[in-house]
Amino acid sequence: MEFGFSEEQLLFRDTIYKYAKNEIVPLCAEADLKSEFSFEIWKKLGDMGLLGLPFPEEYGGQGADVVTCCLAGEALGHAGVDSGHMLALGAHTYLCTDTLFKHGNEAQRKKYVPKLASGEWIGCMGLTEPGAGSDAASLQTTAVKKGDRWILNGSKTFITNAPIANVCVVYATVDKSKKHAGITAFIVEKDFKGFSTGKPFHKMGVRASTTSEVFFEDCEVPEENVLGNIGEGFMYAHQTLEWDRSALLAPFIGGMQFMIEQCAKYASERVQFDKPIKSFQAIQHKLADMKVIMEAARLAVYRVASLKDAGYPINHLQASIAKAFVGDWGFKVASEAVQIFGGYGYIHDYPVERMLRDAKLAQIGGGTSEVQRLIISRLLTL
Ligand SMILES: Cc1cc2nc3c(=O)[nH]c(=O)nc-3n(C[C@H](O)[C@H](O)[C@H](O)COP(=O)(O)OP(=O)(O)OC[C@H]3O[C@@H](n4cnc5c(N)ncnc54)[C@H](O)[C@@H]3O)c2cc1C
Repeated sequence: MEFGFSEEQLLFRDTIYKYAKNEIVPLCAEADLKSEFSFEIWKKLGDMGLLGLPFPEEYGGQGADVVTCCLAGEALGHAGVDSGHMLALGAHTYLCTDTLFKHGNEAQRKKYVPKLASGEWIGCMGLTEPGAGSDAASLQTTAVKKGDRWILNGSKTFITNAPIANVCVVYATVDKSKKHAGITAFIVEKDFKGFSTGKPFHKMGVRASTTSEVFFEDCEVPEENVLGNIGEGFMYAHQTLEWDRSALLAPFIGGMQFMIEQCAKYASERVQFDKPIKSFQAIQHKLADMKVIMEAARLAVYRVASLKDAGYPINHLQASIAKAFVGDWGFKVASEAVQIFGGYGYIHDYPVERMLRDAKLAQIGGGTSEVQRLIISRLLTL
């Protein structure tokens, strides 16, 4: 296992960290409290080039590799940017635009990628359905060819950015009998006839991201908006989910660092029994364990990123290890952070309260912790 960071990458990380701390973080607590996506934050992320990071410059991106994308996410999390906006960025950049870029033809790339990379348009990705979550291959949204269009019928749920998105990469089946081999990807614009979204869900965490159902009622999608090849959609979705298990996890790593720093400071300042609480072994051990977990989680995530950069297209084992580890142990770190803050940790004024709510998502979204274990054990027993 070999990976390191170049001077340029570290400079990039530090620049993002400083910018985010000064310009973005002051806006985050209110956005979370109001459960409101902030277009002001979105614009600032766009101004930094963070909404099109991995795409070539000719498409409006920065041509960053996966490790650099992780460093950017980690820096934002470390600065204290809320996970709601980080999720919005992740769904937009990695789940939507990257799929479009990787599998789109030149006309599709030219039409969509620059607008998405600049942040002028917002993207989302629709895979999950009310009856098909972990078992995504059982999705029921259908696509039937009629003349020069495809007619989509069905619905999706839990779709990040759906209420504010201009375009959605949608997975539908052209032949249910073929199961996963019938699943095909489509590029659906919000103004296409028969496309609509539901009311945003009120969520436990990642509150500044907007999440809703998506409906297709005889939704008309032009032939030229088929993404890639018929029947290859499930493979694309799998490749996409590897982002869920790498760059989308990086902000959680940064978030763990942020919590550790907050806790170390608080433990030095908070006095009980005439001593700062950092002098109690129970608190010292919590802090030490949080650091051990964060460092291990970081290695797991950058391992996946470096494999992706090295050109391995599918890294299911390492990706699932990273996802399960960050999900479960990241939640533990957030829970211990609240514990160190005691009653104050339960109050919104301190960011660890939000971070515990946000951390729960990493055990669910993009494949649950149980499903990651299923994948890992299947690969071990092939
Ligand atoms: C905030 C948020 C944002 C999201 N954003 C998106 C998005 O942008 N696009 C998108 O397509 N989806 C999105 N999702 C959906 C997410 O990926 C799914 O919620 C997730 O895959 C789990 O599916 P489910 O909710 O249907 O749970 P289920 O699959 O019903 O699982 C319920 C429970 O059963 C367990 N379980 C299921 N199958 C097995 C098994 N074989 N073995 C052991 N245990 C099992 C699960 O681990 C879980 O504990 C989002 C979800 C949330 C909450």
